[in-house]
Amino acid sequence: MRYLVTGGAGFIGSNFVKHLLTEGSDHFVVNLDVLTYAGNLYNLEEVEGHANYVFIKGSIANRELVDLILEQYSIDTIVNFAAESHVDRSITGPDVFVKTNVLGTQCLLDAARAYGISKFVQVSTDEVYGSLGETGYFTEDTPLAPSSPYSASKTAADLLVKAYHETYGMNVNITRCSNNYGPNHFPEKLIPLLITNALQGKELPIYGDGSNVRDWLHVRDHCQAIDLVVHKGRPGEVYNIGGHNEKTNNEIVQMITDQLNVSKDLITYVADRPGHDKRYAIDPTKITTELGWKPSYYFEEGLKETVEWYLANEGWWKNIMNGSYVTYHPKKSGDQ
Ligand code: NAD
Repeated sequence: MRYLVTGGAGFIGSNFVKHLLTEGSDHFVVNLDVLTYAGNLYNLEEVEGHANYVFIKGSIANRELVDLILEQYSIDTIVNFAAESHVDRSITGPDVFVKTNVLGTQCLLDAARAYGISKFVQVSTDEVYGSLGETGYFTEDTPLAPSSPYSASKTAADLLVKAYHETYGMNVNITRCSNNYGPNHFPEKLIPLLITNALQGKELPIYGDGSNVRDWLHVRDHCQAIDLVVHKGRPGEVYNIGGHNEKTNNEIVQMITDQLNVSKDLITYVADRPGHDKRYAIDPTKITTELGWKPSYYFEEGLKETVEWYLANEGWWKNIMNGSYVTYHPKKSGDQ
C-alpha cells in the first residue's frame, strides 16, 4: 500500500510511521508534516533513510502541495493525524485549531476525492463526545457534545469526513481514541510532563482536585487499531478505541512518583482548566467484535515501560526543553 501519513512527526503519527515501516511489509510511506512546535524529527530517527519512506515538510492546508504528493507518489491511502492537539493551547488561541483541524482536513478530503484515494482515515478523539458522569461509556452513537475549542474543531472535521462519505461516496473511516501514552509524547501533556518534571525535581501540577478521569491507551495499541481500521473498516463507519484503563489524575501522579521514588511534596494542585471534562471512558465493543482488535498492554506495565523510556532517552526530551529539536534536519527531507 502507498500511504500519505499526515502529522507523522508528532507523537502518535511518528509511532504509526514506525509501525508501518517496521512491520516487514512493502508499505511505502510519505510523511507530510508542517513541523509546528509539536513536530519533532528526532521521533523518526529509526526510519531515516528507509528506502520506502519520504518526509515532506508542508501543510495539509496547502492544496497544491497535497495534490503534487498524491500524484507523484501514487498514494492510495491517507491517514490524517495532523492537528493542533493541546486543549490548553486551544483555550488561549483557538484560531489555528480551526485552520488546521477543520480547514486542513477539508483540504485533504478535497484532494483525496480529486485523486480517487481508496481509503481516508481520520484520526479523531473521544473528546468529541464531551464529558461523562460517574458511570457509562462513550459508544459510537453517543451524541457529539465537545467542550473545548480543540474538541469542537475535531468534531467539525469528523462531520466533514462523514459528509464526504454521504455526499461523494468516499471510502472513509473515523477513529475516536481515548488518551494515549507512550514513547515520544511531547512533555506538555500530563504523563510526560509529570515524568520529566519529576526527573528534574520540579513541581507536578495537577488540575483542580485531581479527580478527573481519563481512559489511557498505549500508543502502540492505538496504532495497531488504526492499522486494522485501514484494512478492515467498513466504509463510512466510526470506530471507538479504548482499553478500559480509567484512572484519575491523582492515581497517575501517585504511580509516577512511586516508580521514580520522588517526594509527594512535589505534587501541586492548580486552578482547574475552564470547561474541564470530568470523565472519559470508551466502550470499544464495536472494534473488538467487528475487527478483532484488543489491546496488548496492561496500563501498569505500559506506564512503567514509558517511565523507563523517558529515563533512557533523556537527550530526546532535553532537546525539547532547550529548543534544539527545532533545528534538527534528518538525512533525507524535502522542505516545501
Ligand atoms: P501531536 O500534537 O503530537 O502531533 C501533531 C502533528 O501534526 C505535529 O507533528 C504537527 O507538526 C503536525 N501538524 C500540525 N499542523 C499541521 C498542518 N497544518 N499540516 C501538517 N502537519 C501539521 O498530536 P498527537 O498527540 O500525535 O495526536 C495526533 C492525532 O491524534 C490528532 O489528530 C489528535 O487529535 C488525535 N488524538 C490524540 C490523542 C492523544 O492522546 N494524544 C488521543 C486521541 C486522538
